Amino acid sequence: MHKKLFIPGPSEVRPEMLQVMATPQIGHRSKDYKDLHGAVVPKLKKMLYTEQEVFLFTSSSTAVMEAALRNLCGKKVLSCANGAFADRWYKMTTSNNIPSKKLDVPWGKPITPDLIEPELKTGDYDCITIVMNETSVGVRSPIEELAEVIKKYPDVMFCIDAVSCMAGDKIETDKLGVDIVLAGMQKCFALPTGLTVAMLSNRALEKATTIPYRGYYLDFLLAKKSSDKSQTPSTPAIPQIFALNAQMTHILNEEGLENRWARHIHLAEIVQKWALGAGFTLFPEKGYESRTLTCINNNKGIPIAALNKELGKRGAVISNGYGDLKEKTFRIAHMGDVTEPEIRELLGWIDEILPTL
Ligand SMILES: *Cc1c(COP(=O)(O)O)cnc(C)c1O
Repeated sequence: MHKKLFIPGPSEVRPEMLQVMATPQIGHRSKDYKDLHGAVVPKLKKMLYTEQEVFLFTSSSTAVMEAALRNLCGKKVLSCANGAFADRWYKMTTSNNIPSKKLDVPWGKPITPDLIEPELKTGDYDCITIVMNETSVGVRSPIEELAEVIKKYPDVMFCIDAVSCMAGDKIETDKLGVDIVLAGMQKCFALPTGLTVAMLSNRALEKATTIPYRGYYLDFLLAKKSSDKSQTPSTPAIPQIFALNAQMTHILNEEGLENRWARHIHLAEIVQKWALGAGFTLFPEKGYESRTLTCINNNKGIPIAALNKELGKRGAVISNGYGDLKEKTFRIAHMGDVTEPEIRELLGWIDEILPTL
């Protein structure tokens, strides 16, 4: 039996989208492909509130996180680290020999303007990396407030990992002054993994021209050259792009952006309220809870594996905590196309199982 995914990626994919992926292949240099690419990019721009560039990369998100560093950072990176994925971005600076400073923030806390402003004031940095929605801890950093500070430093590239919130949470990229924001398909887009989309600012592309060794596969300037022709430099994940095109039509025209943002907020409130009502507490600092997944303290010491085993019999799966938080927290994702009845059914099952554990 298939278990419905309430884990923070991959998320559940609607059968219609799986069907779209079975569309017969087309040549990636054909007019059909250009039409497809040319159809999907404007839809993504609309969702990201941008008139700048949106590129498609055939890779998981991690590759584009690394590419952001390699294409945009020449001096020093301020790595804002409040969770496992932010840590990953920091580790990439060292493995690429890019100077960086790790701004260590306790897990569960957001990145806030007061933490970054003193650093940016030093003038040492040309790049800041922030994970908007830290999936390991369920924390949403106040990206709108951070943008106000970062705007004062126009030489600093504003890089956002929105892997677990893009297409679930509103990101007004042009208004915020974002230089790159990236996300893969398998979280809030609710599609199979294999493709990553990134919005790039014009400023970012200018900056890339000053960086001599950007790598090849994910060179943003090569991506731009191809994108201008509605193509990609090498063969893209065409099935994912078919599905993305269909999903974007669904997001924009069937559900509507505002409804999609509101649904995610509403589902988050339902799960948070349920957790508190069931005697748990929330891991994130109050006011900074993610809108796409809820990270719950296992303060009642329930055996999470046993809970999941029981859930599995009913056809669902949730996630334990990340890394050191494995048994200390558990996470329920409400991202992508999850509906209120589905979340309520899941919570009902957990209520049923908890007294038996
Ligand atoms: C899932 C996730 C990633 C990694 O994505 P991959 O597609 O596995 O490379 C990076 N950052 C965040 C915040 C994530 O949730």
